[in-house]
Amino acid sequence: MNLRKPGSPMSREVTVFWFIDALGWEVVQQTDFLKDLLPFRQRVGMQFGYSSSAIPTILSGQVPAVHGHLGLFRYAPEDSPFRMFRALGPFLRPSCLWNRGRARNLLSRLLGRLYGFTGYFQLYQVPFTKLAYMDYCEKRNLFVPGGMGTVENLADLLVRSGIRYHISDWRLGDHRNLAAARAAVAKGADFLFIYTAELDAILHNTPSPQDPAVQEKLEWYRAEAVELLNTCRAQGLEMRLTVFSDHGMSPLASTVDLKAAVESTGLVFGEDYGACYDSTMLRVNFLKSGSEAAIKAALKPFEENGRWLSEAEERAYGIYRADRYFGDAIFLLNPGVQIIPSDMGLKPLRGMHGYAPEDKDSYAAILSDGEVPPEVKHVSDYFTLMKRRVETMDCPKNDDEGGWTAP
Ligand SMILES: [Zn+2]
Repeated sequence: MNLRKPGSPMSREVTVFWFIDALGWEVVQQTDFLKDLLPFRQRVGMQFGYSSSAIPTILSGQVPAVHGHLGLFRYAPEDSPFRMFRALGPFLRPSCLWNRGRARNLLSRLLGRLYGFTGYFQLYQVPFTKLAYMDYCEKRNLFVPGGMGTVENLADLLVRSGIRYHISDWRLGDHRNLAAARAAVAKGADFLFIYTAELDAILHNTPSPQDPAVQEKLEWYRAEAVELLNTCRAQGLEMRLTVFSDHGMSPLASTVDLKAAVESTGLVFGEDYGACYDSTMLRVNFLKSGSEAAIKAALKPFEENGRWLSEAEERAYGIYRADRYFGDAIFLLNPGVQIIPSDMGLKPLRGMHGYAPEDKDSYAAILSDGEVPPEVKHVSDYFTLMKRRVETMDCPKNDDEGGWTAP
C-alpha cells in the first residue's frame, strides 16, 4: 500500500517525520517493520555517543564537535552549575537516603526546577561528591525555537519558513505524542515532527527484536501509523511519512569496573584527573603530568575489552575538539561490554547503545514512503532532508512572528 493515492497529485500533503528512539537497522531488518507502508529503507550511521548526542544532531544537522552535546555530564568544574554540592557532598554519603533510585529521581526533578533547566535532566548515579566538578549539557529544551543557542535547530527552521508545524513534547509518553500529532493534523498543521522514546526503554530491557514486548510495541506503532494516515485522509489530505531512528541496541556481553582500576592508581579525582564514566565509554581529563601514564597503565588489562580512541577516530565520529571540551581521552568499550558501576548505573542493562557506530547493532534506520536520497547516510543528514522538504513544501504560510504551532 502506498500512502499517496495515485491519480490525486493535487491534494494537500501533510509531511510527517517520526523519530522512534532505538529503532535500529537490525530491528527493522529482522521484523520487516512497516515494510508495506514504507518500502524505501536505508541503513544509517549513528551519531557517536548516546541519545543526548544524537537528538541535538538530528535537530540541527550538526555533530557534537559543533553543538557541544556528547555525554550528558562533562568534567568542567569552572562551568558546573552544581557547585553547591562541594559543601553538601560530605553529608550525601553513598549510604544516604538521597542515593536511592526514587529519591534520586525526585532530587533530579527538584534540582532541574531549581536551576531552571528546561531540557531533559537526570542525575543518574553521578556521585554527589563529583557533581560539583560536572557541567550538564542539556540545560535547555532542544526542541523549541532558540533551544540550541546560536546553532539553528528544526524549530528555528520551521518558524522561519512560516509553515504550520507541530513538534512533539519530548516530556510526554508515546500515546500522548501520537494523539497530539493527530490533533495537530486536524487543526491544520502541514509539518509534523513526532518524538517517541518508549521502544528504547523496552530494548534496554529486552534487546531481542523477537521478544514479545518488542513485537507488541512495533505492532502498536504500526497501528498508530495507520491511524495517523486515516486521520489525514479524513481531512482530505495525503500523508508523506518518514520514520527514522538514532541508533540500535547491543545485547549485554560482559561488564568491566574501570572505576576501580582508575582509583587503584591512588590519583585524586579533581586534582590529578577528572573522569566521566558513561555506560560504554570513559572520558578522562588529565590534570597533572604523570596522570595520563598512570591511568593508561591501569587500564592496560582492559584493552581486550575496549580501546583509546585516536584523533582520527574522534574526527571521523564528529567529536574532535582541539580545546578537549569532551575530555582529553576517551576509552571506548567493545560492543556489549558495559562499565559497571558507572555514573549512569550500578547494574548492567540487558541492552545498551553508545558503542562504535560501525558495529552492526549500532546502525540507525530510515524508512519512507518515497525514495530516500542516497546522501542520507548518517543521522546528521536527517536535518538536511527535513530542511529540503520544508523548503519545497507548497502550503499556506503563516505570518505570525513566533510561528504557527499546533498544541
Ligand atoms: Zn537508550
